[in-house]
Amino acid sequence: MELSSGSSSSSKYGGRKVCDCGLPAKIFKSKTARNPHRKFFRCELYKEGGNAHCKFFRWVDEEEVKGWPRQALVEAQVEINEKNRMISQLKSTIMELRDDLEKHQLEMSSKNVEMETTVYRQRIVITGLTGLLVCAIGAIVFG
Ligand SMILES: [Zn+2]
Repeated sequence: MELSSGSSSSSKYGGRKVCDCGLPAKIFKSKTARNPHRKFFRCELYKEGGNAHCKFFRWVDEEEVKGWPRQALVEAQVEINEKNRMISQLKSTIMELRDDLEKHQLEMSSKNVEMETTVYRQRIVITGLTGLLVCAIGAIVFG
């Protein structure tokens, strides 16, 4: 088993972007009408109004979000969506099962009531019969 090391620190500047000439890239804010206030990386030596030191340019929001590679975030989002779909499916299954269970419980409890009533009635009949029997025996023995 091999441990992959240093896959996240692609630059020698502690995870910061490095421009084409090897300097740490600086974050600038766009002032164009098309991308107002949008942040981008540019060479440290870049100055507004044009400086051809190096052509390095990258939008910040297209690069990394909180240290996560964008592609990984997209994949994670897809996975989360898939899991959410599964969860909602499971939820509806649970709801169905719960409905079934409630129906069964209702049936069971109504059956229980029926059974209890029957048992109660039978007990009364038996008690009555026993009383009659005792009377009859008493009549025969002591009659
Ligand atoms: Zn540069």
